Amino acid sequence: MFTNSHQSIATRNFDVIVIGGGAAGCATAYNLAINGANVALLEQFDLNTQASGRNAGSLHGQIQFEPFHELGMKWARDFLPGLSFLASSLEIWKTLSEKLNTDLEVGGKGGLMVAESASDMLALEQKVKLENESGIASRIIDQKELHEMAPYISQKMLGAAFCPIEGKANPLVTAPAFAARAKDAGATIATGVEVLDISKENGKFKLQTNVGDFYGAKVVLTANAGLPKLAKSLGLDLPISDVPVQVSVTEQVEKFVNHLIYFTTEKLTFKQANSGSLLIGGGWPARYDKSGEAVLNLDSLQSNLRVALKVCPSISKVKIIRTWIGVGNGTPDHNPIIGELPGSPGAYVGMYPYMGFTASPLMGEVLSDLVLNGTSKIDIKPFSPTRF
Ligand SMILES: Cc1cc2nc3c(=O)[nH]c(=O)nc-3n(C[C@H](O)[C@H](O)[C@H](O)COP(=O)(O)OP(=O)(O)OC[C@H]3O[C@@H](n4cnc5c(N)ncnc54)[C@H](O)[C@@H]3O)c2cc1C
Repeated sequence: MFTNSHQSIATRNFDVIVIGGGAAGCATAYNLAINGANVALLEQFDLNTQASGRNAGSLHGQIQFEPFHELGMKWARDFLPGLSFLASSLEIWKTLSEKLNTDLEVGGKGGLMVAESASDMLALEQKVKLENESGIASRIIDQKELHEMAPYISQKMLGAAFCPIEGKANPLVTAPAFAARAKDAGATIATGVEVLDISKENGKFKLQTNVGDFYGAKVVLTANAGLPKLAKSLGLDLPISDVPVQVSVTEQVEKFVNHLIYFTTEKLTFKQANSGSLLIGGGWPARYDKSGEAVLNLDSLQSNLRVALKVCPSISKVKIIRTWIGVGNGTPDHNPIIGELPGSPGAYVGMYPYMGFTASPLMGEVLSDLVLNGTSKIDIKPFSPTRF
């Protein structure tokens, strides 16, 4: 086991403390540790048990259709910095398995956003134009090319936007691999440690936790759903939304899907994992029961499967073996929140909404650079925590 039980931690004083053991936090701890920082990562539960371990493993590199359709061109233009962030992160994914010495099952032959109406094909054209402005080589493909590329897609689909940089990876192994390599490089990885409050004491950040106090010269908040509470203790309100959504996995079947599939008319992401299982999602909501717990929404499940069948009729006989729920976190403009907190020099926040699994390798590098050098290789101004 590569985590430290909190009882075994020799010191409670660190150069940097990272809060949150999802993909963003583990990637940040890894980058800090390999660059020589004395770093601790504190996670309230086990590593990778929240969004980073429950997501659908899509590696996204195109503007999502639903917000594009609902929020329009102005929104899409303002989202381009966030899109570039994903594209740069996808570059890191290409060699990440070797870097972390773990097979992250990175693969896929790009993403296909398929459309069944002429009006959606026109909208896809506009979307592709914007993506091309950002340097992403997505393009429109017609019905003939779509069916050559992906013969399993329904003949009723008119065409698609093809984004060659998209793909998939295995979310169950990614954050743990970052954490394991961080530990190899000297990081302390502590689970079962919930940060309850952050304050300043003698020039350091004092983190009050369920197992006593920790001190860090600097602190990085990668707590995702837990961010609003932690940022509030440092005086900043962050408007982070949370919606529980469902993902389903099927029995293992022979390989036939090489792409990440989306549909413009209704929510869908659809891909095949290396194991042969199909992963079907796209953001269909779960529901809350009377006790406030997020539970399966059968209507959502039926709708999700109906849409998947419409796009890919040949899966009608494939059995679903499990549906699970994860809480998806968002920001009002869909751009990430990255930077130093105002009034708290040395405290940094890093959160990428909706597609943060894709973003996590770059998030780790950017946060580590900010902490250690005060700079970042990408322009983080559009992602300022104070922009709301
Ligand atoms: C169902 C679902 C499907 C998704 N599909 C995709 C996809 O296909 N592709 C994609 O790119 N993205 C996808 N996403 C989004 C993606 O999973 C998240 O954006 C990403 O995992 C966020 O990573 P994170 O490390 O910031 O947050 P998390 O993984 O949520 O990690 C934050 C961690 O902080 C810990 N924490 C919180 N508060 C405290 C505290 N006070 N003290 C200590 N620890 C604390 C939490 O326990 C948690 O482990 C999906 C999300 C969901 C829910």
